[in-house]
Amino acid sequence: MTTRRNFLKLSALVGSLFAFNKSKAVTLVEQSSKVARKPIVISTWKHGLAANDGAWKILSANGAALDAVEKGVMVTEDDLTNLSVGLGGLPDRDGNVTLDASIMDEKGRCGGVAFLERIKHPVSVARMVMEKTPHVLIVGSGAQKFALENGFKLEPKKLTAEAEKAYKEWLKKNEADFKPSMNIENHDTIGMVAMDMSGNLSGSCTTSGLAYKINGRVGDSPIIGAGMYVDNEVGAACATGVGETVLRICGSYLVVELMRQGLSPKDACKKAIERLVAKNPNYKEVQVGFLAINKKGEHGAFALQKGFNYALADDTGNKLYDSEYFCK
Ligand code: ASP
Repeated sequence: MTTRRNFLKLSALVGSLFAFNKSKAVTLVEQSSKVARKPIVISTWKHGLAANDGAWKILSANGAALDAVEKGVMVTEDDLTNLSVGLGGLPDRDGNVTLDASIMDEKGRCGGVAFLERIKHPVSVARMVMEKTPHVLIVGSGAQKFALENGFKLEPKKLTAEAEKAYKEWLKKNEADFKPSMNIENHDTIGMVAMDMSGNLSGSCTTSGLAYKINGRVGDSPIIGAGMYVDNEVGAACATGVGETVLRICGSYLVVELMRQGLSPKDACKKAIERLVAKNPNYKEVQVGFLAINKKGEHGAFALQKGFNYALADDTGNKLYDSEYFCK
């Protein structure tokens, strides 16, 4: 692991080498500047591009990673055309939109909300749980009450036209068994991890969860260590996909621990997917993607199935990348 101290030592070494051998020193400077690639923000799926723009405004102005990951995913929560994040999300099988979110900072402080209804920005409620209470997770009507007591507004209980249409179609097809289904498509939770100019890491995750789930179902996204995890000494990771499979392996925590053992972010994500495969016999029928960054500002991703992409913003721009995947 290249800590800040090691990085400073490396810079000093480069400085002294420069005096002796100019061409060699240039190579070393190039290498070390690749290593110190910060700030950086990555987030899941195509909607990550707009979310990264929101986060980058903060990171590029020397703001904190914590503010960046909150404001970044709020862009996605605000987008009512998004069918898997925020109040525009697809409902549970009874027609209710229920939201899950989490946030974690460089000090290891964390907060989450789950099964929250009619509040526009669950990630900000999660941050308030982290900052204003001694708790980590508040759920359901308690989370809504907490949000209202802290200045959030109660939004109307209403599906968007698009979500309502999709729900009615689902009802028609599923009237007989009314069974929640796990699948490869429609996984668009936004998970985001970022490093700021001081080298501090933070993460966030927000979702309306699995479409047509049983009322009360909570996925991986609000669970610290499953949907998202940050250890400022090592790195940060987040997940998207069928939450049950991620919960079974404490997915994001596992990715961070694998980086602690020396794996690159991509290899850590890949190993976590392999563990998920070993522990979930239904792995061929579901999608999961992990994203990670380490303390050097390196990033990586790996998914179960083809089709997972992620957005990365740093000082070279904000672009979408296809992830490698397990099921060939
Ligand atoms: N991970 C989310 C959940 O299981 C859903 C998703 O990413 O599609 O609730």
